[in-house]
Amino acid sequence: MLSLERIEEIKEELQGLSPEEQQKKFQEIIQSLDPEEREQLTGKQQCPFCLMAKGEIPVKKVYEDETLMGILDIRPANKGHTLLFPKEHHKMLSTVPEVLVAHMFTVANKLSTAVFDAMQAQGTNILVANGPAAGQTAPHVLINIIPRFTKDKVVIGWDAEKIDDTEMEKIAGSIQSKIPKEKAKITQKKEMQSVREDFSRIP
Ligand SMILES: [Zn+2]
Repeated sequence: MLSLERIEEIKEELQGLSPEEQQKKFQEIIQSLDPEEREQLTGKQQCPFCLMAKGEIPVKKVYEDETLMGILDIRPANKGHTLLFPKEHHKMLSTVPEVLVAHMFTVANKLSTAVFDAMQAQGTNILVANGPAAGQTAPHVLINIIPRFTKDKVVIGWDAEKIDDTEMEKIAGSIQSKIPKEKAKITQKKEMQSVREDFSRIP
């Protein structure tokens, strides 16, 4: 995984070189990377969401700030289906810096309320697909905000599996052991208070 600093460094290394030297240097750098990093570097130019963020592909914009952009999905699940994404390229949520993740979900929550009101919806889904197995089709991380109606045709669901208690215990332990300690706890009373208050509100 390349850091943003490393990507900037690479850009600087290429600056001031002739096109031939640039090409040669770029190939050298590419050879030294693992496949994921390579895709990160070469995919960056092609990513439609990066181009949208730069204003190079027209969009129906509903939200923009320094780091995020919110647009209408051109193939919506329902009218008002909105996509929120970071302007910097990230393939999945796991590589987005924590501060930006927090900002993304704060904004997604506001957009969800706005979409709910504007579309006179009866509910909303806020969804992230991480990886093709989860239904991710875009090369750039997105939060889907989908207005929902009791009789709409959107299908988000699964058949519940039956898992015995011992295995459940094991799974819970295994997940717990993978959570970095400092990120696992919500300590601030204020945060818990607002979490409780929000339960009474839909969406
Ligand atoms: Zn991108």
